[in-house]
Amino acid sequence: MKTSHDDTLLIHSGRAPAHFGGMVNTPPCRASTLLVDSYADWKAARANANPYGHYARFGTATTRSFEALLAELEGAYDAQVFPSGLAACTHAMLAFLSPGDHILITDNVYGPTRAFADQVLSKMGVQVEYFCPLEGANIAKRFRSTTRALYLESPGSQTFEVVDVPALAQVAHAFGAWVLMDNTWATPLYFKPFQHGVDVSIHAATKYLVGHSDAILGAVTTNQRAWSRLQAHAQALGQTAGPDDIYMATRGLRTLSVRLQRHQATALMLAERLQAHSAVEAVLHPALSSSSGHAFWKRDFLGASGLFGVVLQPVPAGAQALEKFFDQLTLFGIGLSWGGYESLALPIDTPSRSVTPWPYQGPLLRLHAGLEDPEALWADLTNALSVYCDTKALAL
Ligand SMILES: *Cc1c(COP(=O)(O)O)cnc(C)c1O
Repeated sequence: MKTSHDDTLLIHSGRAPAHFGGMVNTPPCRASTLLVDSYADWKAARANANPYGHYARFGTATTRSFEALLAELEGAYDAQVFPSGLAACTHAMLAFLSPGDHILITDNVYGPTRAFADQVLSKMGVQVEYFCPLEGANIAKRFRSTTRALYLESPGSQTFEVVDVPALAQVAHAFGAWVLMDNTWATPLYFKPFQHGVDVSIHAATKYLVGHSDAILGAVTTNQRAWSRLQAHAQALGQTAGPDDIYMATRGLRTLSVRLQRHQATALMLAERLQAHSAVEAVLHPALSSSSGHAFWKRDFLGASGLFGVVLQPVPAGAQALEKFFDQLTLFGIGLSWGGYESLALPIDTPSRSVTPWPYQGPLLRLHAGLEDPEALWADLTNALSVYCDTKALAL
């Protein structure tokens, strides 16, 4: 379980009421120009480590509140906002790669990150190679003299394999490569990337940090060694985000711990019951002992969030049965994203992977357990599952 120290940080870090007329929350600051008082102050501002820092594109009090809170919570050196989670993923990679470099990417990576690697990194002359998420320290044989980065996502947000982060990071560092990890699923509360050898941690803040499905935002945190490179790259490419979205993310973060406890408990209850249901072929949830990489989850993670996968038993009516299942659901919405207060269900047509076998026969769904009454969610699922199974009779 996460530490109680985190609970206090979540409430007290990243705000300074005395600077804002006593307001508990740092308000959304709207700014472009930031004025100085005198020529001497201007000269002093320009002499900072970042001579262009005195401009709102590089952040305001709103930005710094969020970045400071996130960095402190995750045990990072510092944090940088990006306009979306995907921008955080892509810019983190770009900051550490040059033409001719080789990158190893986990095969269970978020689809759009994979598309970026295949379409943009490849065109830039970066060699992209995928590896099986369960490969562990054997990955050493894939490293080349040009391997500059190892990109992890654990668990993968479609198929939920957990990787051996410390073992992989140790190999990467022995070869002088940076270790980047998408930590969106666990959030800074349930996985501490910098304690396990990660150099650069990436968040789709859109998900649990914002937590209410009302903003798109990304963030990257790094250790001290990686910071200047990440920050210089983000600034060179003009990366920033608007005050309202950042404000919403800071607001969301304050309640992350209590929300996650409930997401975790409900998801685990649903996952365990689904695993025992005759219509289910497999449940892909890192906290279940049957799930790929469960031992790594148990060793390294402090909790589990509310997102997991379910493979249904194949039925003769196939696509028609799946359609009936989804249309029968009343509490689970059908839609992209996750991490908000509401429950979601999504068909995953084919998990996008190129080197990892897929051992299941039936259709894969992704569920997000929201904050509704857990028993009501279970009733909604069992009702839809019985309709799914009834189509067996239909098809015969
Ligand atoms: C959603 C998601 C992203 C992208 O976030 P956006 O804010 O939608 O761009 C990146 N990584 C993971 C694991 C995600 O689930």
